[in-house]
Amino acid sequence: MTGPSPSSPTAVGRSRSRERPAVGGGGGRRPEPLSVVMGTVSATHPERPNLNDPEPVSEGQLTGRVRRLIADRARALIAETCGDMAEAVKLRHCGLHLRFGLHDVAVERHPDGYAYTTGLQTCGSVWACPICSFKVRMKRATELAVAIAIHRSRGGSVFLLTLTTQHTWGEALGSVWSDVQDVWAFITSHYRYRKLKEELGMGFVRTIEVMHGHNGWHPHLHVLLFTDVAVDRFDDAPVFDRIAKTFHDLWVRRMVEHHGRDVKSSYGVDLRPVKDDGADGVGMYCTKAGYEVAMADGKEGRTRTSRHPFAIAYDAVDTGDTADIGLFREWVRGSHGRHMWSWSQGLRQKLGLGDEKTDEELAAETDETIERVCTISPRLWKQIVMTRIGLRAQFLSVLDDEGDHLDDAIELLASHGLLVVVEQRSSGPPRLRGSDEPRRL
Ligand SMILES: [Zn+2]
Repeated sequence: MTGPSPSSPTAVGRSRSRERPAVGGGGGRRPEPLSVVMGTVSATHPERPNLNDPEPVSEGQLTGRVRRLIADRARALIAETCGDMAEAVKLRHCGLHLRFGLHDVAVERHPDGYAYTTGLQTCGSVWACPICSFKVRMKRATELAVAIAIHRSRGGSVFLLTLTTQHTWGEALGSVWSDVQDVWAFITSHYRYRKLKEELGMGFVRTIEVMHGHNGWHPHLHVLLFTDVAVDRFDDAPVFDRIAKTFHDLWVRRMVEHHGRDVKSSYGVDLRPVKDDGADGVGMYCTKAGYEVAMADGKEGRTRTSRHPFAIAYDAVDTGDTADIGLFREWVRGSHGRHMWSWSQGLRQKLGLGDEKTDEELAAETDETIERVCTISPRLWKQIVMTRIGLRAQFLSVLDDEGDHLDDAIELLASHGLLVVVEQRSSGPPRLRGSDEPRRL
C-alpha cells in the first residue's frame, strides 16, 4: 500500500521554471488521438453544456486509455449537472480533493505500466461515478472469479441465473427496482428455495443491473448460484430442471400476483451453467462469469434498444442532450443508497473469502506501484481536473509509457493554459505546481 508522502520541508533542491505561452499544440509527444467507442456522435449541439468544447468520441476500439478519458469527461459532466443534488455530494469531491492529512497528489506507476493518482478522496459510488464504479466492479469481478474457481475445485457447480420483468415507459425507477428486490426477498425466504438450498448446499451472489430503453427503466437480477452437489445440466437433467422451475415459478408468481407485472416466458427467467471447457478453460470461464455479473455495462453499455446509465452520461458528453442529462439525474436520485451486491449468508466464509469490503473501501484502496512519477500541488491538480475536457486522463496517458515523459505531460498542460513549475528535490520525485503558486518551503 502506498500513498503520497508529504513533501519534505528540507527537500526543496533545484527548481526550474518551465513557463511557456498558453498556446495550443506545443512540441513533444502529443496525447494519442481520440478514437473511441460510445456510439452515435453529434459534434455540435445548441444545448451543449460548458465542457470547454471536448472533442467528440467516435467508434473504434475501447482501450483502457480511452475508457479512462470517457469516464473522466462523464464524471465532470455528472458533477456539473448533478452537483446540486444531495445524492451527488460525495461525487462532487471525488478525485478532486486530497485525503485528510496529505499535502500533495502523487502520480504512481502500476507494474502493468499505467499511471494513476493516489491521495485523493473517492466517492465509491458504483451507480453514479464512472471512475469509482469501474474500479469497484473490476475488484468484485476478480473476487467472483476466485470464488467460482475455489468452488469448482471442490467439486461444486456454478450457475448463472438472470431474472427480468415487464416495465413501462414513464414508470418511476424506484418502483420497478423495489418490486424486483421484493420478489428476490420473497424467493429466498420461500420454503421451496430453502428446500433446494438444503438439498444441494446452495448459496448465491446477487447483483442488480439497470438499463434504460424504449420501455423505460429496466432493473434485472444476475445471480450466481453455487451448489455443493455437482449438478450437470444433461446428466442430472431433473435436478437442473427443478432448480430452473423453482426460480421460474416463484419469480413469475410473485411478479404477476403481487406486482401485476408480466414476465416474458421466453427470457424472463434464464438459468445456465457456468461452463467448464477443460482445465485450461476453467480460469477463463470463471473470469468470464464473474465479469458477466460484475461488469454488466462492460459491453460498451448499450444494446440495440437500451443503454446503461453510464452510456446515457457518455452520450450526454457528446451531445449535451438535456433529456439525457435529465435521465441521468433521475438515475442518480433513484439509485442512491441501493445495494448492488448481496452474498447469501455463510457463502463467503465457506469459500474462505473473509469479510466483504464496502464499495467505498474498494474505491479508496491504493493499487500496487513500482515508481512514484511526480507529485502535484493540490491547487494545480484542481485546475487539471476542472478543465472538464478529460485533461486529467490525457495527462495520465502521456505518463503511461515507460521512460521519462514528464516534459511531454507538462507541455500538454501548457497547451491548455496551465503553466507549471517543476521543483526538483534532493530526494523523491519532482513536484509540479502552478507558476503563480509560491514554492513550498
Ligand atoms: Zn467517485
